[in-house]
Amino acid sequence: MTGSPPSSDSAALEPGSLLSEHWQAVPAAEARERLKAEHPLSNAEAAERLATLGYNRLPEAAASGPLARLGRQLKNFLIYMLMTAVVITGALGHWVDAGVILAVVVIQTLVGFLQEGRAEQALSAIRHMLAPKARVVRKDGQHQVDAAELVPGDTILLEPGDRVPADIRLEKCHNLKIEEAILTGESEAVDKTTEPVEAEAALGDQTCMAFSGTMVATGTGRGVVVRTGASTEIGRISGLLASTTTLKTPLLEQMDRFARVLSIIVILTGVAIFFGGLAFSGLEFRELFMAVVGLTVAAIPEGLPAILTITLAIGVRQMARRKAVVRRMPVIETLGAVSVICSDKTGTLTRNEMMVTAAVAGGQRFDVTGEGYSFEGAVCRNDAPADASPVLAEMARAAALCNDASISHRDGRAVIHGDPMEAALKVFASKAEFDVEASARDWPRVDEVPFDTNIRFMATLHHDHHGHEVAYLKGAPERILRMCSHQLSDTGEPVELDHPAWDGIIAGMASEGLRVLAIARRPVAAGRRELVVEELEQGAELLGVVGLLDPPRQEAIRAIEECHSAGIRVKMITGDHALTAGAIARKLGLRNTDKVLTGKDLDAMDEQQLQQAAGEVDVFARTSPEHKLRLVAALQALHGVVAMTGDGVNDAPALKRADVGIAMGVKGSEAAREASSVVLLDDNFASIVAAVREGRTVYTNLRKGIAFMLPINGGESISLITALLLGLALPISALQILWVNMVSSVVLAMTLAFEPPEPGVMAQPPRPRDESLLRGFVVWRVVFVSLLFLAGIFGAWFWAMYNYDDAVVASTLAVNTLVAMEVFYLFAVRYLDTPSITLRGVLGTPVVLLAVFAVIVLQSLFTWVPWFQDTFASTALSPEALGFAVLAGVAVLVLLELETAIRRRFRAARG
Ligand code: ADP
Ligand code: MG
Repeated sequence: MTGSPPSSDSAALEPGSLLSEHWQAVPAAEARERLKAEHPLSNAEAAERLATLGYNRLPEAAASGPLARLGRQLKNFLIYMLMTAVVITGALGHWVDAGVILAVVVIQTLVGFLQEGRAEQALSAIRHMLAPKARVVRKDGQHQVDAAELVPGDTILLEPGDRVPADIRLEKCHNLKIEEAILTGESEAVDKTTEPVEAEAALGDQTCMAFSGTMVATGTGRGVVVRTGASTEIGRISGLLASTTTLKTPLLEQMDRFARVLSIIVILTGVAIFFGGLAFSGLEFRELFMAVVGLTVAAIPEGLPAILTITLAIGVRQMARRKAVVRRMPVIETLGAVSVICSDKTGTLTRNEMMVTAAVAGGQRFDVTGEGYSFEGAVCRNDAPADASPVLAEMARAAALCNDASISHRDGRAVIHGDPMEAALKVFASKAEFDVEASARDWPRVDEVPFDTNIRFMATLHHDHHGHEVAYLKGAPERILRMCSHQLSDTGEPVELDHPAWDGIIAGMASEGLRVLAIARRPVAAGRRELVVEELEQGAELLGVVGLLDPPRQEAIRAIEECHSAGIRVKMITGDHALTAGAIARKLGLRNTDKVLTGKDLDAMDEQQLQQAAGEVDVFARTSPEHKLRLVAALQALHGVVAMTGDGVNDAPALKRADVGIAMGVKGSEAAREASSVVLLDDNFASIVAAVREGRTVYTNLRKGIAFMLPINGGESISLITALLLGLALPISALQILWVNMVSSVVLAMTLAFEPPEPGVMAQPPRPRDESLLRGFVVWRVVFVSLLFLAGIFGAWFWAMYNYDDAVVASTLAVNTLVAMEVFYLFAVRYLDTPSITLRGVLGTPVVLLAVFAVIVLQSLFTWVPWFQDTFASTALSPEALGFAVLAGVAVLVLLELETAIRRRFRAARG
């Protein structure tokens, strides 16, 4: 640590002394004393404790040690086959061949090893972006910190959906229930209290403790950290935190299966050729064996696995750059197939920068001026600052007190802490010339019912210092109105509630696109210290309603348009009022905004009706998390590949169920993040669309990688088999094939991982969910190009034999022709469906030009440098011969271009 803070007594804690304590048997205040934390720690004290007591995290099981990773590379069918080839070629005295094949094994292992290491590194870097957070109270206020930085003595706040970040002695609980299945196996959430229990109490009975790794189901709480890291209960049980990321995706598994089938075919063909050759061809044992070795290395795409892994890893990194962090690798592919995105509204489609622009109280409408969260502005009536009114003042007090947000000013800018809507209410109270600070002092809060999407309101209980109690409520207007029997008149007198009039006012504000919130108060008996939800249901007095403006995000409007052109339906699912939701949906450019379904409507439907509605309607309002789950299921039943966003604890089932669960990184709970496969770091809808675009790109790049690599092996194998069948000399030797597969092809194929999205990626409908990669077009391309390569290889060989009558020249030219064709094929494969001979095609990605240059250098070494000539049996070529190679390449490109044009014509004709 640098610049160590002044050492203070309170920070000095003996690591050992904390472990033996039975914190569950100690009153909370005493626990604080022993932890030398009577007051919230200062940041300096916390830093000092961190230095002596260590980070609050479990030692992570290494994803896999370097040795295990190395072992994995060697445990590979291909490697066995090559090793066998080494042994036999060695035994036959072909030392050079044995040496080169061995070198291939080493390089192959090394490349795989490094590649996998890099992919793992990329993933673990991303995991750190998702480090769990904790709400901690320090001397200078409330902070959000990495849970790893917590120390014993820290004060922690808990909310629904939080994962408890350390072992905590609770000192304040409100309806707090914690799910401890991870520790105790008990699936029902446990009610928490603050009373000490017996020292011998079992974990499940230690109700005054919250244990690291468990999940807050409902309610809120506060407590002091007593144990961190490996000394926590979970740390003692598990010791190590297994890291479970895998690099496998359905596609990679498909390729694995393909490789196994291919190996078997190769072995069978090899055996057949060997014995068939012995019986019929009169070729010598040695020659035949070398031919089989050649066939083996020709048929197997040595570089392909590395190319696929790196393509995926690059995709993951690219998405992280666009603020979408992938938690589960396979989802990368699914993202590319998404056909419906269900998004929540506030903060994702809108900016969540709220401002109260209108208020109605005591029969009068007020307009509120000002910008953002700045305190400048006023509550006006008929364009002039409103006169002081008792009902307005009471409404301002309620808005300020029934509120957990705070606003501080830094460098002239307002910085908000907590819910933006509540911050907006504080600003409103202050614009109504209400002294927010003073009233918090005069009316301290004694109890609360925290906001919850299911109950849709929040209540707080306050008392002044003269024996008066009052409860303030705020929430969804229809919910609050249901609780009210009276309203406050202009002069502040309670009069009977005019329900229909308020309904009209609320509908009017909502259809302007404002989020409407009702504010009420409820008298309570003197001495009351507790709020009970059931008791609040009646007898409240409505103070008024406010309308909050939450402008749509400009980038969301563009992103929605992009989705529509990409054949992706966007649906908005919100807890907000139906009219507000409809108004915002229209501003956002959603498709079907005429009809808005509410949670109540959904409840009344059976599965059949729901499916139909889910397909047609695009806006769902006043929904609770359970509705999300039903909607996902209905959309999936309609064959949609569904992406669903969520942030609360209750969203977890829907996030799990969706094909792509997307959690909000900023406002989302830990529970939501853990249930989802993608986490958005900026909660922005545009990032979802960017991730889909990236998913499509990765998928096409994988396809391109496969479409590029397979024909090379195809061309080589067919050439060898043809030569054997016709009794010709092999045009390319096993070693030369290895050179092509391991060096030139890999260098070229690598560039495909960096291919940017094709211009039309977001102009096509999503691909079907289960589309197999080696299907239709790709298979056709592989076969067609294999045949072109076959023609090129033999063409070069015969042309050279005719002109030079020298087998060494002929095979050197065959290799160079093959590589030249690959280079030109690379340009064709980069645009599978569109013409490739364009300026963009040639200059598009600098990395491609670099790779081409590298390959030219490598082929020059192969052809002209004596050491390479000795090793690979190659020789210098004449300019005419080189010209032949280049022409063959150009011919491949032209033929493929023709093929693309014909295919497009056909497709257009078919409609
Ligand atoms: P959204 O889907 O737009 O994020 P929520 O489910 O968060 O909607 O909220 C639903 C409704 O609950 C809101 O329209 C509002 O009326 C009410 N509400 C939201 N936040 C609070 C809060 N902090 N206190 C009281 N009521 C709230
Ligand atoms: Mg919300």
